[in-house]
Amino acid sequence: MKPPPSARDLAALAALLRDRTRAEIRADHPLAPHTSYGIGGSTALWVAPTREEDLPAILRAVRQAGLPLFILGRGSNVLVSDRGWPGVTLHVGEALGGMRFADPEVEVQAGCALHRLVVAAVERGLAGLEPLAGIPGAVGGALQMNAGAFGREIADFVVAVRGFTFEGHPFEAERDRLSFGYRESPDLHGVLITAARLRLERGSCAVLRRRVTEILEMRSRRQPLDLPSCGSVFKRPAGYYAGALIEEAGLKGERVGNAQVSPKHAGFIVNRGGATAADVYRLIRRIEERVFERFGVRLEREVRLVGEFEDRS
Ligand SMILES: Cc1cc2nc3c(=O)[nH]c(=O)nc-3n(C[C@H](O)[C@H](O)[C@H](O)COP(=O)(O)OP(=O)(O)OC[C@H]3O[C@@H](n4cnc5c(N)ncnc54)[C@H](O)[C@@H]3O)c2cc1C
Repeated sequence: MKPPPSARDLAALAALLRDRTRAEIRADHPLAPHTSYGIGGSTALWVAPTREEDLPAILRAVRQAGLPLFILGRGSNVLVSDRGWPGVTLHVGEALGGMRFADPEVEVQAGCALHRLVVAAVERGLAGLEPLAGIPGAVGGALQMNAGAFGREIADFVVAVRGFTFEGHPFEAERDRLSFGYRESPDLHGVLITAARLRLERGSCAVLRRRVTEILEMRSRRQPLDLPSCGSVFKRPAGYYAGALIEEAGLKGERVGNAQVSPKHAGFIVNRGGATAADVYRLIRRIEERVFERFGVRLEREVRLVGEFEDRS
């Protein structure tokens, strides 16, 4: 295991970034408030850029300092270790969240909340994104995860994606050069996504608004939205539903500390208040073991683990 960066390296990097960029920089910054779980320790260095032009310099400086880099969007698909993240967390937030419509296309920055984009498109009478309403991520996280719901995924709309490699070089790829899988975008690994061009279709505002309302109602009927979570913890295994397997394995309502398999939707692990990352992780491992013992199915995690976990596998 690599030793954690020294306080001196971190201070030098923070000073350099303060000097050369307009990013917000904080040392030892808590990550829990930036995640939908509300769980996790601090990041050694928090860097929240306020303008895209600073990104190459930030990425190059982090690389030169040899610090581990984690990109954070709205934190709705991550479980951050109780020990936090020993390197730099680069937050792509609403400061990098503009959008520009050239109907029927939209150029949207990665920090824009996905739901805000859906609503803006609907209000212009642009159709397609309504099934993604209510997904609590940002556009960058949605592209990295190929987020989807109700039979549609963001990849369906992508014309091109822009960003930077972790070395700070510009990255741009048209749709035909990008492969997207189920909840994964292999060609975007190692890319800091800054923007995407999406193509939508013309539709009727009133119809689209109704569809969004229906989608949001379905979500709140099926999902435990009253408690913090990361959405579905596991991907859907071929031929099954993860939630159904977990329920049939007798794990609905199962608890480790204050982490619980949601009694409403067994695919979700909720934080009942004060759960630790270790609680959630132990519950994840228990589910994986029991489902495998019972059905011979190896569940694949959708949630991204950030930092160190005991006996991580
Ligand atoms: C209540 C609830 C319901 C949900 N429902 C759904 C659903 O229906 N469908 C679905 O697909 N997901 C769902 N999710 C999961 C989550 O909202 C999506 O995966 C979302 O796309 C994650 O976006 P984010 O900005 O929160 O990413 P984060 O959680 O911040 O990050 C997720 C991953 O993307 C990477 N990443 C983030 N931003 C960037 C960027 N700009 N460039 C490069 N990499 C980046 C991170 O490094 C990390 O690996 C749900 C979550 C919750 C809490």
